[in-house]
Order: sequence, then C-alpha cells, then structure tokens
Amino acid sequence: FLPRLMAALEQVDQTYIMVKPDGVQRGLEHYKDLKQKPFFPAMIDYITSGPVVSMAWEGIGVVPSARKLIGATDPLQAEPGTIRGDLAVQRGRNVIHGSDSPENGQREIALWFKEGELCEWTPVQEPWLIE
Ligand code: GDP
Ligand code: MG
Repeated sequence: FLPRLMAALEQVDQTYIMVKPDGVQRGLEHYKDLKQKPFFPAMIDYITSGPVVSMAWEGIGVVPSARKLIGATDPLQAEPGTIRGDLAVQRGRNVIHGSDSPENGQREIALWFKEGELCEWTPVQEPWLIE
C-alpha cells in the first residue's frame, strides 16, 4: 500500500494554465462542463473578449499546487498571496484558469495546443527543488 501511495504522490502530471482576457488586458469548448450554469453565456462573452496567454505546466502534483497558487474561484474567498486573492475582485473576472484534475489537464492541453507546440526543458535549479 505504502509504495503505491508514494508512487501516486510522485506522479508527474500536466496542467493547462491560462491567463484570461482581463489578466492580459489589465474557447468555448473548454468550459463545456459548465454549459448548464446560469452564468455560462456571460462567462463565454468574457473568455472570448480578448487574447489569452496559454501555458502547459508539468511536474509532481502540479494540478493541486497550481490551483493553490491561483486561489479560490471567488476572488473574495481566495487567500491573500494567491493570484486571484491579490489581483481579482469578482468570479466573472478572476484573471486565471488552471485545470482541476490531471485528466482535464491532458484534455485541455490537447484542446489548446497542437502537436509539437509544447517545449520540454529542465530548469537548472531542478536538483535543488526536487530530491
Ligand atoms: P475554477 O475551476 O476555479 O476556475 O471555477 P469553475 O470551474 O467552477 O468555473 C469556471 C469559471 O467560470 C470560473 O473561473 C469563473 O471565471 C466562471 N464562473 C464560475 N462561477 C461563476 C459565477 O457565479 N458567475 C460568473 N459570472 N462566472 C462564474
Ligand atoms: Mg474549473
């Protein structure tokens, strides 16, 4: 059990990160799971209102650690020190997106990037960050 738990903790995942239009300037399918929500049309207007910055991040536990950095959906509930907590005011203008599971990370990366568009690289400080 323990080795399996350790292996799960050490799993290298991928997550899709997007700076939303308000983040750049101060995808419709992407949010298909929210189609039934009352705020869906307003959210689509928002997310297609300007350019976004797309990123794919990879690392151990990258999905929850990126979400922690991003903060709660409602910026008023987001902790100080998080991106939404420090930089946003309303849910409808919350600056940044991050995938909510490794499966969605893969799905969203495939949606936003074509084959060959991602580059892999190793930061020089990696041995000092990861044992
Ligand atoms: P996230 O995973 O924290 O981004 O939150 P969700 O997956 O629940 O919602 C996706 C996005 O929809 C959020 O980041 C917001 O931009 C938007 N959203 C969620 N709830 C609301 C809402 O009540 N009103 C509006 N206008 N937008 C919302
Ligand atoms: Mg979400």
